[in-house]
Amino acid sequence: MKVEFWSKEKIAAFQEIKLKETLNYVNENSAFYKRQFKDFDLNSINALTDLQKLPFTTKEDLQQYNSDFLCVPLNKVVDYATTSGTSGTPVSFALTDSDLERIGYNEAESLKCSGIEKGDVVQLMTTIDRQFMAGLAYFLGLRKLGATVIRVGAGIPELQWDAILRYKPAYLITVPSFLIKMIDYAENVGIDYKNCGIKGAVCIGEPLRQQDFSPNNITSRILSRWDLKLYSTYASTEMSTAFAECSAMQGGHHLPELIIVEIIDENGNLITDGSPGELVVTTLGVEAMPLVRFKTGDIVQAHEEECTCGRTTLRLGPVIGRKQQMIKYKGTTLYPPAMNNLLNGFDQIQNHLIEISTNELGTDEITLYLAVQSPTDEFLTQIRDHFRAKLRVSPRIEFLPLEVLNEKVFLPKSRKPRQFIDLR
Ligand SMILES: [Zn+2]
Repeated sequence: MKVEFWSKEKIAAFQEIKLKETLNYVNENSAFYKRQFKDFDLNSINALTDLQKLPFTTKEDLQQYNSDFLCVPLNKVVDYATTSGTSGTPVSFALTDSDLERIGYNEAESLKCSGIEKGDVVQLMTTIDRQFMAGLAYFLGLRKLGATVIRVGAGIPELQWDAILRYKPAYLITVPSFLIKMIDYAENVGIDYKNCGIKGAVCIGEPLRQQDFSPNNITSRILSRWDLKLYSTYASTEMSTAFAECSAMQGGHHLPELIIVEIIDENGNLITDGSPGELVVTTLGVEAMPLVRFKTGDIVQAHEEECTCGRTTLRLGPVIGRKQQMIKYKGTTLYPPAMNNLLNGFDQIQNHLIEISTNELGTDEITLYLAVQSPTDEFLTQIRDHFRAKLRVSPRIEFLPLEVLNEKVFLPKSRKPRQFIDLR
């Protein structure tokens, strides 16, 4: 029986052995953790709850002491992925041959969890180059799974449809909002997309569901036009591990052989009552750059009940937001994804940018820059009322021509669109 179906006690016992191996390994091989652990008796760390005795690793640590995390000689590094650091400068993430194997295993298991099988044809609509880990991970995972990969990469609906009609994939791997562009294009040129053989899509980068797992606005808009199975997946370069949804679509399943999960409150204490908090991870089985108690900065809610698919593993709900992007607005606390979700509910909005600044009174001010087909005062009022009703905030709204807004959102040197600016 696979580890995901074991009892919680058996999984914990298994992780405790792996944790000891990891702690000894980093203490011997990483200059950073040698310093970090010099005053700790690692032999006193036995149960998973003992982890709380150890200090956190932060994104700032990873940025400031990047090369001190490396546990292997440089000639064992096969690939460098990058991830954006806190100050915007990229952080390098080294991977050995064994790490690429681990990532392939991780993604094969995750895709299996979402129902993809050996022999399935899968179209990869994410970037595989530019030092992105995700695209590479999907390729390695699909290869390990015995599936066929069509590497079209990101964007260009016409190219995507050419490949779909030629190779007949059953699944797509994509950012969910791009599916709307795919449907628009298909309708414009008369492609019978509903009967093209695609069963589902594995969606990355944007949430698909609300906290109760009901569809969010982007998902509802896709499903109202195209009957697809949409599976959410959440991962990051630092974690080198994914949390993928099964057919129950009740949050991403934890792979206990690859990562230890903690959820902490604002004071760094473990949350045990299931309320949302910051995700902290300890990677297992990583050779080049393992991380111990790494604070991801992502606010999530963990679900512990056994899933209808039979897996006993913890599930993570949609990311509520990034901790440092928290907005305090007249007694309300909110995160950009909740605002993205509201804006995604309006068909007329072609693109948007959220800007947070501090006003003269020292409180947070929200400005929405919107590109819409026909900017009217009525529409502006409609959006503002919607924000007031749903999120209890009243943003300043400014319409911009689409070309002007696109220049602010799609920066030439950035791999992802930037729809949030923090001026605080
Ligand atoms: Zn499940």
